[in-house]
Amino acid sequence: RSRLPAPEHARVFVVANQKGGVGKTTTSVNIAAALALGGLSVLVIDLDPQGNASTALGVEHPPGSPGTYDVLIGGEPLEKHVQDSPEAPDLKVLPATIDLAGAEIELVSVVARENRLLRALRTYLRDYPTDYVFLDCPPSLGLLTVNALVAANEILIPIQCEYYALEGVSQLLRTIEVVKQELNDELELTTVLLTMFDARTRLAAQVAEEVRTHFAAQTLPAVIPRSVRISEAPSYGQTVLTYHPDSAGAVSYLEAATEIARRGAKEKS
Ligand code: ADP
Ligand code: MG
Repeated sequence: RSRLPAPEHARVFVVANQKGGVGKTTTSVNIAAALALGGLSVLVIDLDPQGNASTALGVEHPPGSPGTYDVLIGGEPLEKHVQDSPEAPDLKVLPATIDLAGAEIELVSVVARENRLLRALRTYLRDYPTDYVFLDCPPSLGLLTVNALVAANEILIPIQCEYYALEGVSQLLRTIEVVKQELNDELELTTVLLTMFDARTRLAAQVAEEVRTHFAAQTLPAVIPRSVRISEAPSYGQTVLTYHPDSAGAVSYLEAATEIARRGAKEKS
């Protein structure tokens, strides 16, 4: 198996798009697993109370069990609650449970409410150097997503190749600008990934072209096809990379991850 190049410093990606069902979680877990399978150390932080990323990475998260909530609200150290994913040797997950749904409200009255995740992650990364961190956001622009935007240095936006794909992205871009000005001037939109591409429709091709025009430098060459294998994998607690490694979906996520690693490589080859 080929080894992927490591970045100089931890690359912390927030996977954001306030639309639900566009492939945020699917992208977070499959890119994370692909990088980890390529020999890099990777951490996924599940910030969605649905806990879909935790499920997809084969990590237990029954109601009441500890996870993201305890780190954000309880101020507990991240390393206390990270779990190993069976998907790859150096892939860790901070799981989310439904308790996290309350955090959106509870955070409002907490000190330094926008910086909770940043602080926890900084401390963790000092003790546990990690190549890649992926923050899987809920489908809203509330305080959980703001915490992720503050803790990250790069943004990955998955865009579904469907009608109204770019609707909502402009709202996200405005939020990103506000966060950059007020809270985190290092934040950069570096990566756009086209997902759920259906080669049979003209619409998908049109949307893809529009996105490539808009985000010429950021859009990855690889496009994720609409694939039953990809949508089935989570029900086995797996990513598509282990569920069906030879499927078109798995290959496209591997290509996307390889390009992300190449762009962020310490020594460009
Ligand atoms: P989000 O996290 O943005 O809400 P998800 O990643 O959960 O989106 O994806 C929404 C639904 O679409 C899920 O059921 C997922 O399994 C499915 N899905 C995601 N990507 C694909 C794809 N490329 N092909 C087919 N189904 C997909
Ligand atoms: Mg999700």
